[in-house]
Amino acid sequence: MTADLVISDGTIVTPERLLEADLAVDGGTITAIGDAKSMPEAEEVVDASGKLVMPGVVDPHVHIDGYLSNDSYETGTSAAALGGVTSCVNFAWEAWLGDLSVWDEKGTLMEAVERQKRKGEDSLIDFGLHGVITREDPAVFDELDAVVEEGVTSIKMFTAYEIGLSNGFMNQVFEEVAERDAVAVLHTEDASVCNHLTDRLKANGEGHPREYPRARPDYAEAMAAEDAVRMAQEAGAKYYGIHTSCAKAADVLEDFQTDGSEVRGETCTHYAALDESAYEAQGSLAIQAPPLRTPADRDALFDHLHDGALSVVSTDHVAFRRADKEVEHWWDSSFGVNSLQTTLPVFHDEAVNERGFSYPFLVRVMCTNPARTFGLPGKGTLEPGTDADIVVFDPNEEYTISAADNASVADYSIYEGREVTGRVKKTFLRGELIADDGEVVGEPGYGEYVHRERPDWSPNRR
Ligand SMILES: [Zn+2]
Repeated sequence: MTADLVISDGTIVTPERLLEADLAVDGGTITAIGDAKSMPEAEEVVDASGKLVMPGVVDPHVHIDGYLSNDSYETGTSAAALGGVTSCVNFAWEAWLGDLSVWDEKGTLMEAVERQKRKGEDSLIDFGLHGVITREDPAVFDELDAVVEEGVTSIKMFTAYEIGLSNGFMNQVFEEVAERDAVAVLHTEDASVCNHLTDRLKANGEGHPREYPRARPDYAEAMAAEDAVRMAQEAGAKYYGIHTSCAKAADVLEDFQTDGSEVRGETCTHYAALDESAYEAQGSLAIQAPPLRTPADRDALFDHLHDGALSVVSTDHVAFRRADKEVEHWWDSSFGVNSLQTTLPVFHDEAVNERGFSYPFLVRVMCTNPARTFGLPGKGTLEPGTDADIVVFDPNEEYTISAADNASVADYSIYEGREVTGRVKKTFLRGELIADDGEVVGEPGYGEYVHRERPDWSPNRR
């Protein structure tokens, strides 16, 4: 027997443990893990001594080439490759008309899926899609069978902005999602509370970004989460709370959660690594919704990642430029921050180096759990038979994050100047090297659309 590749002498990180072992890859698949003597002859051997060998990061929350992002698939997924992210789940937005829309006419959800699949033909990493319902038009329910058959097994809804759905319509979406055993993905902030507080800050001229968190407070996030998760439970729908930013919203998920078979949630790298003081230090560059919260909220998010109320860390990558962000009043700033290239080193530094979490924990929340939660069984693990999506990571290399290194079109980083210990050295996707020591070596178009399964949320799969 021979292999295309052997990664030798590294420390392999699985969701459960660390082991000193070699790993063999053939035909894009992991074929063996074991001691050096058991490895087949390989065309290429990568020496990983002193390094960690981890599954590629699976980021289930990115905005690339479509609504809310200036990144093309090529730029966005180049950033991902450099950051050790080998799969992502992007969004297919049902086109709507309104102030925030980028479309001239309404479109169907299936058109959105086809549009995003086409755009993804330039991807360097594998990608799936969430469908986003943006309008209260029941015609979308006639499309859901086809959408789920297309591998789009999760449906996103908003409670805020002009695309926010009423509880009544959302309630029906939960029923439709439950019927198809798909996943409902929720952005929860109570729109009327946020709008009223925003208007008050505007009226008072409180435009400095340090005031921004007061416009979208933690209780508004928790209130909307409570309504949504309660409806999901009544309908029997799987519920996933995205970008959970605070203790109050995470507590809601925990209150409704039993064993993770019905309710799950994520937080994002920036909520774990930063707090609201970033708005003083960085101004509107750091603005996203929900806002960054308090140091106590950061601690609570880690507690909930530890106890399982939250089980995933995503980026919510959005590639705005300085010009979109740096405005006089925070309410004129574009919302969203880029971090596909920095998520692994920043979260590693925060979770493992600063807070003492284990490497298996890191792999669970960034790789294994997102893959299992969203129906990507070949991803997020190094088990033989799965895709050879692998990161070789040096846990000891120190470097300073700078947007000058960004592959994304975003020309700033909220982690600018941050010194981190731990760096991505090599990223492999299905056995092919796509990033090598800070250089993108993958080809646009090598990344494939992933037809996602209906995920199995039974407790032993988390
Ligand atoms: Zn998002």
